[in-house]
Amino acid sequence: MPEGIEVEYYKQTALQALNRKIKSIEIIDHKYLERACSPAELRDLLIGNCFIKAERKGKLLVLSISNNYKLGLRFGMTGRLLVDGSSAIKVLEYSSSSDNPKWDRFYIKFQDGGALSIRDPRRLGAVQINPNLATLGIDLYEITALSLSEVLNHSARPIKARLMDQSKIAGLGNLLTDEILWRSSIDPRRQSNGLSRNDKRRLFRHTTQTISELTDLGGSHMGNLQNHRVPEGLCPKDGVPLIRYNIGGRTTYSCPKHQK
Ligand SMILES: [Zn+2]
Repeated sequence: MPEGIEVEYYKQTALQALNRKIKSIEIIDHKYLERACSPAELRDLLIGNCFIKAERKGKLLVLSISNNYKLGLRFGMTGRLLVDGSSAIKVLEYSSSSDNPKWDRFYIKFQDGGALSIRDPRRLGAVQINPNLATLGIDLYEITALSLSEVLNHSARPIKARLMDQSKIAGLGNLLTDEILWRSSIDPRRQSNGLSRNDKRRLFRHTTQTISELTDLGGSHMGNLQNHRVPEGLCPKDGVPLIRYNIGGRTTYSCPKHQK
């Protein structure tokens, strides 16, 4: 699924779409509009204008339009951003590895013949006009030891659920949090406010290192735990069978031996 790291790559892709006049919207899936606006409103907003800036907060990509409006793009579980038919991320974890244009849910054509689209097999993404960024917490690339500690101190929820709460930290998803907690030797089910000062220090170090390392490698799916997140998978650190359960509705893998 696209997490903050993948959307950071989409932002790079989106830079190719700036300052190109929008000619038409060829496809807009009604599910993508979430009843927030009509296809006609979206056409009025976009056609004849350009995108002038691409920004990202958490998993949300925000394109500024030349008329001062902003367009928010969400990618759900399986969405990829394509500009002129290519994307910075070729295959997403949990998504089909085939690449079918029939999964284009939002497709804009530029006057110059090129296009921007969201290709999304599972159709869980969205397009929003002027998205509210204030509902999102600290961006994953801006986490500090202090802000992480504050997020954790005020909650008795399982630490994994707290790290994935987009209103607290924006951009951490299922794969990244499993990887970070595995590297930090912390059990994902522990209460957030029960971590010692040492636990928090270790968690902060692994959070920033993991984000930076996986960004360099190309995405959240490049972690050390990833290939072992399967039934009967073994911990790559100590060979113990991983355990699998749900936290906040998300499938979680952790090691019963070294994650305490
Ligand atoms: Zn282990």
